[in-house]
Amino acid sequence: MKFFNTLTRKKEEFQPLQGNTVRMYSCGPTVYNYAHIGNMRAYIFMDLLRRALQYEGYKMKGAMNITDVGHLTSDADDGDDKMEKAAKEQKKTPYEIAAMYTEYFFADFKKLNIGRPEIVCKATDHIDDMLKFVYALCDKGYGYETSDGIYFDIDRFDHYGQLSGVNLEGQQAGARVEVNDEKRNPIDFALWKKAPKEHIMQWDSKWGMGYPGWHIECSAMSRKYLGDQFDIHTGGVDHIPIHHENEIAQSEALTGKNPSKFWMHCEFLQVNGGKMSKSLGNCYTIAQLEEMGYAPLCYRYLCLNAHYRKTLNFTFESLDGAKTSLNRLYQLVLKHKDGADGENEKVAEYDKQFEENVTDDLNIPGALGVLWTMLKEPASKAIYAEALKMDKVFGLSLDKAKEMVTVEEELVPAEIMAIAEERWQAKQAKDWTKADELRKKLFELGYSVKDSKTDFKVSKN
Ligand code: AMP
Ligand code: ZN
Repeated sequence: MKFFNTLTRKKEEFQPLQGNTVRMYSCGPTVYNYAHIGNMRAYIFMDLLRRALQYEGYKMKGAMNITDVGHLTSDADDGDDKMEKAAKEQKKTPYEIAAMYTEYFFADFKKLNIGRPEIVCKATDHIDDMLKFVYALCDKGYGYETSDGIYFDIDRFDHYGQLSGVNLEGQQAGARVEVNDEKRNPIDFALWKKAPKEHIMQWDSKWGMGYPGWHIECSAMSRKYLGDQFDIHTGGVDHIPIHHENEIAQSEALTGKNPSKFWMHCEFLQVNGGKMSKSLGNCYTIAQLEEMGYAPLCYRYLCLNAHYRKTLNFTFESLDGAKTSLNRLYQLVLKHKDGADGENEKVAEYDKQFEENVTDDLNIPGALGVLWTMLKEPASKAIYAEALKMDKVFGLSLDKAKEMVTVEEELVPAEIMAIAEERWQAKQAKDWTKADELRKKLFELGYSVKDSKTDFKVSKN
């Protein structure tokens, strides 16, 4: 398998560091609010990666944190603790807030067929591990005390910036004028914060009562569960310049090793070509999409159509397109379920093409194209079996096609729709020759196709 490694900026051959087990750490949610569909894109990516590795025969040992303390409203070290802020606003304890949104979060996992990592660890259950980590960093001379906390001394760590390739001087010059002028370097970050009296969540430490900085939880918990160095670390691209640089700095300063061999990042989901934001009212949740009549798997299907390293633009037109396509997919799968018995000599070739795509930096859109082309073949039970095998990676519940499909009046036969869908896929891949050939073929069979930006319509000539 080959994956693009953010650390080396190259596609590299993947091999687990130890035996056949892949140890993978994924940055989890800060549970102060509902997760939105952008967050869910990052976890659908995590899930596809887990499924692809399992498809290739690896055993997974995945760990994901639940941030229930310490993530301030700014990724740098100022602002309020997001958990405390939500608790005060909703008149609940931070623990109640965390429990409530964690439950919603995993409900979305279930609806979207996202597999839960083997280890799910809460920050507040690991304060001791974090404190030990911070003490050890201080013993090695990497931490220093100020009046409001303990900070990591970036100037003592030679490799800072290796992940994002940032120019430290540029970053320092760009840093805001610091509120905290006790920091030795403006981009030094908090390992531990001293708690003001009114701070609800606080624990005893050798510096008095306090609470952890955000980054330390991932370093302490990944080390505890996966060791000093593991195979893959995932997250969204927003984590590259601060959170993951800081994780690497802390872990490497302590153990001498970069904590992960591969760093993989999912690009952002945008809405109507822009950022999702509460003030624009476009931070949709899976539950909201359901209320509007979209099954959660329509959103999963939409995500499967974009490579994880490409920005995905969410619009309701594209979600409508995904809904229609997924329904067609279920119809075609059902056609094969009732197809001819016996072997089908074409299956092996499709199987090979599918695997080539999946193992090439998780090219799921390519693999989906192979599925569509295969389903266009005459009805065959062997093809049905192969589609279910492929679905171990896609996670679209193709085995439940009968329950999932919404039966619409079939004006255009499934075979014709399959050719049209294949042409659409070819067009998306900019394979104009193939797209033209398929349009011609459709015409000869008595059908015309008309495209919009996000979908196509087939009608009789
Ligand atoms: P948070 O709860 O803010 O720590 O975010 C949880 C995960 O969602 C992280 O891996 C983020 O990188 C990711 N994420 C946040 N916003 C988006 C977005 N618009 N598109 C894709 N991933 C996102
Ligand atoms: Zn993290």
